[in-house]
Amino acid sequence: MNYKNITIAGSGVLGYQIAFQTAFYGFNVTIYDITDANLEKAKTKFNTLSEAYKRDVNATQKQIDSTFKNLSYTSNLAEAVKDADLLIEAVPENSKIKIDFYQKLAKVAPKKTVFATNSSTLLPSQFAEVTGRPSQFLALHFANTIWVHNTAEIMGHATTDSKVFNDVVAFAKAIGMLALPLHKEQPGYILNSLLVPLLSAATSLLVNDIADTETIDKTWMKATGAPVGPFGILDVVGITTAYNIDKMAADKTEDPLKIKTVKYLKENFIDKNKLGVATSEGFYKYPNPTYKKPDFLK
Ligand code: NAD
Repeated sequence: MNYKNITIAGSGVLGYQIAFQTAFYGFNVTIYDITDANLEKAKTKFNTLSEAYKRDVNATQKQIDSTFKNLSYTSNLAEAVKDADLLIEAVPENSKIKIDFYQKLAKVAPKKTVFATNSSTLLPSQFAEVTGRPSQFLALHFANTIWVHNTAEIMGHATTDSKVFNDVVAFAKAIGMLALPLHKEQPGYILNSLLVPLLSAATSLLVNDIADTETIDKTWMKATGAPVGPFGILDVVGITTAYNIDKMAADKTEDPLKIKTVKYLKENFIDKNKLGVATSEGFYKYPNPTYKKPDFLK
């Protein structure tokens, strides 16, 4: 892998984090967004993010200064990719927006540029043709708070070139990620293929009144040694996300349990603004949830 110049498209929740992490590890990073106003917002967020790097990963001021030197900004797509070895796309999770973006990108990107999508729920095969370079296209999926939850799932589609795939695995490692390669396409990658069924099973146990929240979490924590149970995880992820996933499933099925789950989450959490850690209350109350108390598993 001899990537030097990396372009990040989209400076929202994930894009600005990917840009900073990549610049922190010494790459030249160009951030592209549709308006200069969005880029200005990202610049402001970098100041807060610098503090988080100092606190969470012991970054020094010298490292932060050189990170800022590695960052540049533009709202001109052709300018943004003119020297790019790799472009990481973090535009909104909407296939119409992504297709439109790749059509424009294909017209201006140099031949050498590899494209990677950070999409959480859309598959690379949905966009491979429209990129105009299917063999140089794949998914590189990061998690929110990338500097501490430093996982990178790398997932090609049927015709991704194996050298491109291996280069992106090497790149992920070079920016401090735990690289997690998938052998083929899988909706939800590895993490959500494991997590979504776990969280959904926990909610079903609760909604069916098999056991209460704490008992279900205690079972998982004690039996597997996990530091947090499914309801503690749901509070971190945000109950809105779980509600939206369940609602999408319920809209497509007659399954009474799914319908009951959606109603339960709406009435007990969404309508009461108990959305998890973000609103200081979800299944637990924050900042000191009972599951973190030393006697929780006694
Ligand atoms: P976001 O809405 O916070 O940010 C999207 C950014 O893209 C905005 O700054 C917007 O101005 C910009 N944008 C819109 N159209 C654009 C275009 N045509 N060209 C360039 N920029 C454009 O979204 P997000 O949460 O950062 O998500 C981005 C991608 O990352 C999605 O595919 C999402 O699935 C994925 N992702 C998100 C998370 C998360 O926790 N938020 C986690 C992993 C992956």
